[in-house]
Amino acid sequence: MNISFPEPTITPITKPFWDSMEQKKFNLQRCEDCKHWIFYPRAHCPHCFGNRLTWQEATGKGRLKTWSIVHRASHPAWQSLTPYAVGIVELEEGPSMLTHLLIRAEELHYQLPVEISYHVLNERQLPFFKKRGGA
Ligand SMILES: [Zn+2]
Repeated sequence: MNISFPEPTITPITKPFWDSMEQKKFNLQRCEDCKHWIFYPRAHCPHCFGNRLTWQEATGKGRLKTWSIVHRASHPAWQSLTPYAVGIVELEEGPSMLTHLLIRAEELHYQLPVEISYHVLNERQLPFFKKRGGA
């Protein structure tokens, strides 16, 4: 069986994020008015509703807020990788993001320091997270 992984949906608003991924850069939106960092990408700031959003490079570091071990994937292509961990990472800049975790289940704990790890799937760089300083 050869089922391809589902592709991210790329829109004019999210395209700069995926373009930066291809250069292994973790660019996020930042509001020029209230200075908050924003994820996921959108047209208006969720904090002040301003629309002066720019793209800036983030550290790619954060801490684990919560996680789950997936045994039964929602897509057949992902099933071949089970069990795997997904979690919500609170980024140093403030926003949280749901992401695939390249961390063994027994090493997961609340507030675990993590960092971005670019992972190629379908020839596209995806932002997965690993233990900070880990392989
Ligand atoms: Zn704002």
